[in-house]
Amino acid sequence: ALTDRLSSVFDRLSGRGVLSEKDIDEALKEVRTALLDADVALPVVRDFIARAREQASGEAVIRSVRPADQVVKITYDGLVEMLGGEGAEGLNLSLNPPTVILMAGLQGSGKTTTAAKLALRLSRERKKVLLASLDTRRPAAMEQLATLAVQAGVDSLPIVAGQSAPDIARRALSSARLQGFDVVILDTAGRTTLDEAMMAEAAEIAAIGQPHETLLVADSLTGQDAVRTARAFHERLPLTGLVLTRADGDGRGGAALSMRAVTGLPIKFLGVSEKIDGLDVFDAARVAGRILGQGDIVALVEKAAQDLDTAKAEAMARRLAKGQFDLDMMADQLAQMKRMGGMEGLMGLLPGVQKVKKQIAEANISDKALDRQAAIISSMTKAERRKPDILQASRKRRIAAGAGVEVAEINRLLKQHRQMADAFKMMSRDGGKGFARMAGMLG
Ligand code: GDP
Ligand code: MG
Repeated sequence: ALTDRLSSVFDRLSGRGVLSEKDIDEALKEVRTALLDADVALPVVRDFIARAREQASGEAVIRSVRPADQVVKITYDGLVEMLGGEGAEGLNLSLNPPTVILMAGLQGSGKTTTAAKLALRLSRERKKVLLASLDTRRPAAMEQLATLAVQAGVDSLPIVAGQSAPDIARRALSSARLQGFDVVILDTAGRTTLDEAMMAEAAEIAAIGQPHETLLVADSLTGQDAVRTARAFHERLPLTGLVLTRADGDGRGGAALSMRAVTGLPIKFLGVSEKIDGLDVFDAARVAGRILGQGDIVALVEKAAQDLDTAKAEAMARRLAKGQFDLDMMADQLAQMKRMGGMEGLMGLLPGVQKVKKQIAEANISDKALDRQAAIISSMTKAERRKPDILQASRKRRIAAGAGVEVAEINRLLKQHRQMADAFKMMSRDGGKGFARMAGMLG
């Protein structure tokens, strides 16, 4: 799985505190391989990696304790977003029935099966549905849909021999109108490969039917071909959404990502079996997990975020117990305070620091103040952050200029740091018990 591969990349790098651009490149190479293994189209992979690199280069990852998990998290979040985010897109039903739904796609992609699956789903929502086969090419196609309609418990348009697809479309529409159907689903003929005749016919039917939904049905096992198919149909038809069939197969979900990225269309449903009730509302999180080859990636990602906080808190507690509290640690504290919604959140967890708590409250800690303090600390050299004692007037002036603050503000920060360090030193005298508690509470 991707997580294991990333872990081994980062294990090789362990011992170094900070990740370089090169380290991130190496990690992203693994992400790239995982995406290509999942059959995501190459241009889509490139685009995705470029975005992930931008994110991964952010401060949070570089300073993180478990970079492998963080890169997985960034990748996973990126995939979910690229797949359309959380929350499902249902069908757009017209306020003015009948709603017309047109099924398009290559032969064998699952159009007819999906048409029946949609009919069943809609009839369970108490919609009156008419299924109409416009497939004049395959002799058995019309009977196939009629049989499925019976299974779904919905009506199908009576078969009339010798009619052209556009004529059947017209007949279906007028039947639907006259007989008060809520939804009419037009199932078209496909070809085994993309060709002009099929596209022209589908476009003509779309012009006649003026569909509210034009769904491209595609086999999720098609892999790299998915992009070409999606693009070709998208150019000729007013597509409104995608349905990916055979999500129950061995595919890794790459086609979903490719098609979504190329067309920008929402993936509305996944076909998950041959049976008539085998249609699931699309779930970006599930597919993202599948692309990464991770059984339960959501849990893993949540754990990664938690581990990060725990590991940081534990490392901090160990150092505090030794009486160490430098400005880097203070910067971490400030960042954490900001995340936890200010001083109250963090200090409330620490036993026996009422005095510091009060002082800090008096220092008027706001997000803005926290940002300025972070800016001051990051304008210092490593040596200065380790040993604030060396900060003489000239160094302070340099830092003030760098952070855009007055020297007085630096002095205030140093005083606050001394007070915190003293308080922590005092706490460490009880054998570090307070710190063990603190680590436990934060974790
Ligand atoms: P069409 O040519 O696009 O109309 O494709 P069909 O609807 O006739 O489907 C072709 C074959 O794929 C049939 O044997 C279906 O049972 C099967 N099929 C369709 N959707 C799914 C799916 O989601 N999962 C599985 N396993 N098989 C499917
Ligand atoms: Mg068919």
